[in-house]
Amino acid sequence: MTTSRNIESAAAAFEARYGYAPTGVWSAPGRVNLIGEHTDYNLGFVLPFAINRRTYAAISLRQDQTVRVMSSFSDEQHQIELADISKNAANDWAAYPFGVAWALAKLGQTAGVGFDAYFESDVPVGSGLSSSAAIECSTSLALNELWQTNLSRPELARVGQLAENEIVGAPTGIMDQSASLLGERDHAVFLDCKSLEAQSIELGFDDEGLELLIIDTRVAHRLNDGGYATRRAACELGASQMNAASLREVSIDQLGKAKEIMDDVTFRRVRHIVTENERVLETVEKLRTEGPKSIGALLNASHVSMRDDFEISIDELDTAVDVAIRHGAVGARMTGGGFGGAAIALAPIAKVSEITLAVLAEFELLGYGKPNIFAVTADQGARRDR
Ligand code: ADP
Ligand code: MG
Repeated sequence: MTTSRNIESAAAAFEARYGYAPTGVWSAPGRVNLIGEHTDYNLGFVLPFAINRRTYAAISLRQDQTVRVMSSFSDEQHQIELADISKNAANDWAAYPFGVAWALAKLGQTAGVGFDAYFESDVPVGSGLSSSAAIECSTSLALNELWQTNLSRPELARVGQLAENEIVGAPTGIMDQSASLLGERDHAVFLDCKSLEAQSIELGFDDEGLELLIIDTRVAHRLNDGGYATRRAACELGASQMNAASLREVSIDQLGKAKEIMDDVTFRRVRHIVTENERVLETVEKLRTEGPKSIGALLNASHVSMRDDFEISIDELDTAVDVAIRHGAVGARMTGGGFGGAAIALAPIAKVSEITLAVLAEFELLGYGKPNIFAVTADQGARRDR
């Protein structure tokens, strides 16, 4: 987390691998979603923020059309010609930078030259903190400058999403890239997934002495057991039963009618989305007027809604949330797609160690695997470091 060390070491590793110095080093952060879960594909609201864990990309353009990428994750070098980038051209991590080059050439309407890149990262992989957006956005910010494509940051978010959808092959939304590109220190990114309009919202965690604890259960997301697809299908069914284009158009007032016309499961899925959108709006309002200590009840209610209505929590996440609240967290909830992954707890810095020890003890008592617990702060989005 000492950035200057990461910057120098990424540049030095680039030079050691490729035999010449990089033109520059760019970095982009991972992100955590404070509130607004499963609302993105229902065209609702989300409130993520960029975290103080980053991926550093040391990059130089080449004279030819070749792209070479390396990462501190492995010694292997991946190479491709720009014109050969397509789905299945790479079935490993190289698909992310390759995909970004492909997507930027497409949206930036330019045929750039090839490049050499070296990546170093302290974003945990697979904890739901979007190491994928970090690698995409560090690459897209660098190439946007080097290729002089001059796309805006919202357009670069779209580049990352396109890379992930078309080349990596993951059907993800635009939240992660938006947070990674638009984040600011001690601010969250309030994103309207319908208009794609983004606003920076001051969190005030710094002034209030709060940190966000990530409690990664290390239970692997089991998104492909059908849980994610069935949730999406239920949301689509609910919207069509309400004659709405999406659940974004359904208000709290209409839930009474929804309850009358829907089966119980569909109704509860719908109620989660509709109330979650409302909670995001209320969180933004409370941050603006009363400050971060006032959002605890909304975080807790979000968790209960995901546990009971959307039914995507697991015992480990429920335990993490309960213990964190009992030991002084302002509020806590599971975050991410569900069926595993991490919980977050907003906590006074003075309570962080007590909460950490209590969660570790409870997990051990219950025979759960050891969670990985660490604090994050809201940090600046993608930038050029040198
Ligand atoms: P998440 O984004 O939640 O961390 P994903 O599965 O979306 O999880 O993305 C993780 C993948 O991104 C890794 O498996 C790897 O392929 C790639 N990745 C992320 N950061 C790096 C990096 N610094 N070097 C190489 N690959 C990376
Ligand atoms: Mg990801």
